[in-house]
Amino acid sequence: EELIRRLRRAKIARRRVQVFKPRIDDRYHATSIASHSEHTIEARPIDRAKDILRYTDDRTEVVGIDEAQFFDEEVVEVCQKLANLGKRVIVAGLDQDYLGQPFEPVPQLMAIAEYVTKTLAVCMRCGAPANRTQRLIASADRVVVGATDSYEARCRRCFEPELSQQLHLAVEEADKTSQNTELAATDAETPAEELEAAEDQGNHGAEYQGELEESPFFTNAQ
Ligand SMILES: [Zn+2]
Repeated sequence: EELIRRLRRAKIARRRVQVFKPRIDDRYHATSIASHSEHTIEARPIDRAKDILRYTDDRTEVVGIDEAQFFDEEVVEVCQKLANLGKRVIVAGLDQDYLGQPFEPVPQLMAIAEYVTKTLAVCMRCGAPANRTQRLIASADRVVVGATDSYEARCRRCFEPELSQQLHLAVEEADKTSQNTELAATDAETPAEELEAAEDQGNHGAEYQGELEESPFFTNAQ
């Protein structure tokens, strides 16, 4: 949202603006970045950070990069090069992963930026300013992209980093149980419905996917 606001202002000021985002973020329209308030701006989806250099026009004055946490370390060098060319580089990304750990390469980008702005969401538990992303589904993967209801903003006090891992363990247990049920079925002819129910329980981790919350934000200005 803050990224879109700044890019909008740059456009109003008649700056030449280009916006990029990782292709992984296909939650919304494929060629735009979206905020929760549905404001969108055209963004080119790219596979690797280096593609930003390839696609940035010489005349472009402002480069926006969204969801920086999904890019590899190369994005740091890419931002340096663009800024050294005299371009204003505005990057948005999550600075912590679902465990509350620094989410590379965003911490590295924050270190080299002239200006860093942290935007806080609202804790869905207590209403306090929130800078953590609570994962509500079972997964031990660092990046899970897809549905909208698997993450929520939490403050320091309400954040439960162990929750997702506990759910993950619970799912693995359920997997074992469903396998046991299958074995038992060959012997004792368990009704098919029961088998399906057990398999359903075991598959939640693979089926549910998530969206990341409001992005902390920083600017690498001229
Ligand atoms: Zn809270």
